[in-house]
Amino acid sequence: MIKGCFDSLHEECGVIGFYDNNGYDVASMIYLGLFALQHRGQESCGMAINDDNHINQHKDLGLVSEVFTKDILSRLKGTIGIGHVRYSTCGINTRENAQPLVSQYVKGTLSMAHNGNLVNAMKLKSELKARGSIFQTSSDTEVIMHLAAIERTKTKSIEEAMENVMTRIKGAYSLVVMSPRKLIGIRDPQGFRPLCIGKLKDSYILASETCALDVMNAEFVRDVEPGEIVVIDHNGLRSIKAHCGQPKNLCVFEYIYFARPDSKIDGVSVHESRVLAGKLLAKAHPVDADMVIGVPDSGINAAEGYSQESGIPYGYGLVKNRYIGRTFIQPTQSERIESVHIKLNVLKSNVEGKRIVMVDDSIVRGTTCANIIKMLKEAGATEVHMRVSAPPFLWPCYFGTDIPSKKDLIACHNSIEEIRQLIGADSLGFLPADQVKYLCGSNGYCDACFSGDYPIPIEDIEE
Ligand code: SF4
Repeated sequence: MIKGCFDSLHEECGVIGFYDNNGYDVASMIYLGLFALQHRGQESCGMAINDDNHINQHKDLGLVSEVFTKDILSRLKGTIGIGHVRYSTCGINTRENAQPLVSQYVKGTLSMAHNGNLVNAMKLKSELKARGSIFQTSSDTEVIMHLAAIERTKTKSIEEAMENVMTRIKGAYSLVVMSPRKLIGIRDPQGFRPLCIGKLKDSYILASETCALDVMNAEFVRDVEPGEIVVIDHNGLRSIKAHCGQPKNLCVFEYIYFARPDSKIDGVSVHESRVLAGKLLAKAHPVDADMVIGVPDSGINAAEGYSQESGIPYGYGLVKNRYIGRTFIQPTQSERIESVHIKLNVLKSNVEGKRIVMVDDSIVRGTTCANIIKMLKEAGATEVHMRVSAPPFLWPCYFGTDIPSKKDLIACHNSIEEIRQLIGADSLGFLPADQVKYLCGSNGYCDACFSGDYPIPIEDIEE
């Protein structure tokens, strides 16, 4: 049952799949892809490689570079592979919940990796349990696995089974699925989470973001359409579009925060989207200042845009230690407070005596930005004007991201002026809610965490 963001089913993840036709070392390719997708999840990772229906797999808690050694990679032989990076939002970060999930079923092996969150998983899980199913993880991906196994007994192929599963599951899901002979990519009918197709010579890649294709020197073929199933096997790639055609609800926060700036999602450059957010912000909330700085990493592009629009020079004000996870993805409050100091330092010589515009992508609880503003002022900044390249968070997310329950959202309990005072800024401005639409190109989008306008009913929600 979903009780807000800290429910055990919520996660923000990255997925990758590789179908080899050229003799590539599949495990090394998946490793590269996972490395590029590391920003999407830093708590656990894994890969499963199919060697003629025998699955070689390895998964564990930790970063990609920690979990996979040369030795481990050399043991992961095969011609089809899938991989996953995971972040669990509620502290349930166990090895069992790490993905891909691999099962034996009626047709051999089935492996799956999932980015997103179902909004009817608990309901489906109860039904499955009542019919005798046993679950080993708290992940909703296992619900999809069970449904796929059941449907496969009634259908001629795994893709047909997945087509049927899609009529049962609701919510956000970008999936990579591996059967004994196929690699399958599936994007939910609303397209909440991204998924794209790449090609390297004759080999195919599925990835959450295009940056994972770049790292392999693969060419971008296209995005998987919302509702589409792409099947890759020895015949090449084919597509099933029975679930296509619904209104698209791509998560706007992919552009604002989650995705890497060098990725392109559904035809829109993440970097350009963020620069535009900064420009819109500068128009909506101008201020007299000496330097614009961005909070690394996702505030940097919007700061660039703010500087371009306002004419205030862009400068380097905060230095990031890149070797720890992002502040937003820390499970407890105390760790979050400490991690700000561990990961960011102020470039004192650059900010001293200056009026600073500090651009960040969001304010969730306010703790992080309050600490950064304090550090800037201690380093000699005379004023700190905070600009946020998203509207205030007012609603939790049920589609697989860590936007917490209302009680943890600072904007739910405080006016803008009260937030300004709480974080210690000299002024505060958010991207106006009616301008979010400009960040997504012509794509339909979800902005429920700002508007409360959920594109689909949340069936698991605890009343
Ligand atoms: S509620 Fe917010 S974070 Fe969740 S999918 Fe919608 S836009 Fe993205």
